Parts: sequence; C-alpha cells; structure tokens
Amino acid sequence: MNQDKINIAIDGYSSCGKGTLAKELAKFLNYRFIDSGSMYRAVTLHCINQGIEIGNTNQITEELANITIGFDYNTSRERFEVTLNGKNVESEVREMRVASRVSEIAAQSAVRKYLVAMQQEIGKNGGVVMDGRDIGTVVFPDAELKIFMTASVEVRSERRFNELIKAGKEATLSEVMANLTERDRIDSSRDDSPLQLTDDYKVLDNTELSKNEQLEIAKTWALECINQN
Ligand code: C5P
Repeated sequence: MNQDKINIAIDGYSSCGKGTLAKELAKFLNYRFIDSGSMYRAVTLHCINQGIEIGNTNQITEELANITIGFDYNTSRERFEVTLNGKNVESEVREMRVASRVSEIAAQSAVRKYLVAMQQEIGKNGGVVMDGRDIGTVVFPDAELKIFMTASVEVRSERRFNELIKAGKEATLSEVMANLTERDRIDSSRDDSPLQLTDDYKVLDNTELSKNEQLEIAKTWALECINQN
C-alpha cells in the first residue's frame, strides 16, 4: 500500500447521494472514484438484455464468463463511466427496469465474488474512493476511512426522482420510493455481505445538509485520516 494514499469506503442506503459525495471527495484528493453499484447494475442489464431469468442463479453464474465490466473516463463529467462488454452503459443502467431487478442479482454470491475481486484489484494501491453497500465491510475491510451515509426515505426518493426526470427517464415518485424501500430491504437482509453499520463507520446523515456541507465534513474526516496515516 502506498502510505500516502488511503482508501475511502462510502456505504449506505439507496440514493443517499453517496456517488455525489464520493466523486467530489475524490476530486478534492486527486483520487479515483468508483461507483460499485454501477457494476451490479451492468450485470443486471446484461441479464435483462440476454433474456436470462433473474432468479436463475446457475445460468447467471455461467453467464459471468461472457461479461466484461470496465470503466471509461468521461472528461466533461469528470468521472469514470461503466462499460459492459466495451459499450458505455452509464445512462442505461440508471433506468427503472434495471433498478427494479438489481438487488436480486446483487444478492447472488457468484456475482458478488466476481465483482468484489475486480473492486479489490482497482483499490490495491490505495487512492480510491468507492461507494456501495459492502465496501467497508467486505471489499476494503482495512479502509482507513469508512463513511456510512443515510437520509430520510422521502428526501432520497425526491432526489432520485428529480435525477431520473432530468435525464429524460420515465418514473413516478411513488414508484421510485417503492423501489428504494425494497432495495434497502433486500440489501440489508441478504445473507452474503448485507449492508450493515458497524462501529468503525463515521455516520453522515445528509437529510438536512447541502452538498457543500456534507463535502466539508467528509473532507475534514479524510484529511484527518491522511495525516494520521
Ligand atoms: O449504488 P446503487 O444504488 O447504484 O446500487 C444498485 C444496487 O447494487 C444496490 O441496491 C445493491 O443491490 C447493489 N450493490 C451492492 N453492493 C455494492 C453496490 C451496490 O449490493 N457494493
């Protein structure tokens, strides 16, 4: 591990703004931001495109050999965007048809094993801010800084709904709220790597915080960790 560069894990409930914070924090530190959820979404998109039954664990396990997940740097958005077998699918993986199935795919151990290995490879030299559900518990259990994000379900639903509408996607607010609640339920109760708040996380509830306020808090935590490292 490069002693100067730590790894930062940001976990928490769906649509808490983890990605926004992770991206800004990575920019401030000159680290790499990786959205691990986009990888689970890309696997889900592939299965939907191939007409694979989401509950067919054996077929999905076999299909992993035909799935290559990568990242393309988008200079105007200043972030890495997920690719599926060479095609940029960053926008497509945000659609409700993917969101409504992704937690079932993410509960499958073979899928997790495959993606966690890739995530660990990306972070092996430090200098990564990664957001997800199991980053601080499974992917980087030794991450120097672990942040657990939360916000009220009403605020989260509204934020995600507005994002989808702005991106020209079809959705209703009640559909988005039902999806977030269901994903949180599956993500927190699955057997393999559930979302869980352990003692080593710093909790960030951003229900009443602006993007800037939450970034300032996270920057302070990160600089403290880097200075202690
Ligand atoms: O972060 P995002 O909401 O895009 O993640 C989509 C889904 O992917 C989550 O609801 C969860 O089921 C799964 N996921 C996961 N582990 C991660 C990241 C995402 O299980 N590290």
